[in-house]
Amino acid sequence: MADVKKIAVLPGDGIGPEVIAEAEKVLKKTEELFGYRFETERGLFGGIAIDQRGTPLPDDTLAICKKADAVLLGAVGGPKWDNNPKELRPETGLLGIRKALGLFSNIRPAVIFDCLKDASTLKPEVLDGTDLIVVRELTGGIYFGEKFRRETANGQEAVDTCVYNVKEVERIVRQGFEIARTRRKKLASVDKANVLETSRLWRETVNRIAPDYPDVELEHVLVDNCAMQLLRRPASFDVIVTENMFGDILSDEAAMLTGSIGMLSSASLGEGSFGLYEPVHGSAPDIAGTGAANPIATILSVALMFRLTFGYHEAADVIDNAVKAVLDAGHRTGDIAVDKSQAIGTTAMGDLIVGAMKK
Ligand code: NAD
Repeated sequence: MADVKKIAVLPGDGIGPEVIAEAEKVLKKTEELFGYRFETERGLFGGIAIDQRGTPLPDDTLAICKKADAVLLGAVGGPKWDNNPKELRPETGLLGIRKALGLFSNIRPAVIFDCLKDASTLKPEVLDGTDLIVVRELTGGIYFGEKFRRETANGQEAVDTCVYNVKEVERIVRQGFEIARTRRKKLASVDKANVLETSRLWRETVNRIAPDYPDVELEHVLVDNCAMQLLRRPASFDVIVTENMFGDILSDEAAMLTGSIGMLSSASLGEGSFGLYEPVHGSAPDIAGTGAANPIATILSVALMFRLTFGYHEAADVIDNAVKAVLDAGHRTGDIAVDKSQAIGTTAMGDLIVGAMKK
């Protein structure tokens, strides 16, 4: 009998519970098709946890996550909590959970579905074949370095420091190489080594460990050039690995290649195979409760979990192919529909995808 994989499920707020319900159907269908076993346990997280427990990340939620093999998260936040003090805001829970679970990288795939090429602002012929992943360092760099202000003869001066040590660089770059190994075996390491000392350390570290991955083709790309090449030749990238701030910017740029936020999955990984998986979008309070949310980003996050945490590549392919088949057949939720009057709802989209899952 297959070993049981434990998944902590945190539906969160707004459309979070609606899209998570569809992802759970996909888990169930995978069990039927492949004989895998998933044990899910739900936890309160975000605004709902603030309302019911007085904190965005209750201890028992964290305990559920810590004993799980992976976490599936919907989305958190909403206007109700926007004016709360910092410790009572849903986003504080997001930062807290990443820290408590030791998640140091963020993974964002950007894949073009042929039938949705028109949703992008780029020309279809530029997008042809685009299928890339941005691996972003999440816990170091300028966002976490010392920050302060001081008085000078020219008025106030502000300082942000960017710090990276070899261990931090090595663990994220190794993750980039490992992910490239499961794909087209190309890694672009992005830095600004012509100017920044942290980038020079980054590049030295990449070059030192590259011989451990002779099967992966490595290129160094300066961040400004990478920003241009993503628009000019996105299909030529496979895996991009980079530091925190560059990754923040480049992953948003890469996301926009696909044209729709309702389609984008993501993962945050720590040491080993543990990971937290979630759609890139937020809790969409404007459509929450209307049954209009696109569940595909969350369903694709399950596929990403299968690939990166469980190594269930065939099951991940089954999900990806089912999504593609449903889109190719012309089914659309409101966010990706050209003719909005033909749009289907969250549950109908989930049911169609589950129905299209075939070995
Ligand atoms: P958002 O992603 O929630 O929504 C932006 C727009 O995209 C909205 O018009 C929304 O209707 C639409 N949209 C998003 N997801 C969709 C889906 N699956 N299907 C169809 N349409 C979709 O971003 P926002 O409005 O800036 O933020 C709303 C709340 O979500 C805020 O409280 C914010 O802090 C929070 N947020 C949470 C996360 C997270 O949980 N990781 C991420 C981003 C934003």
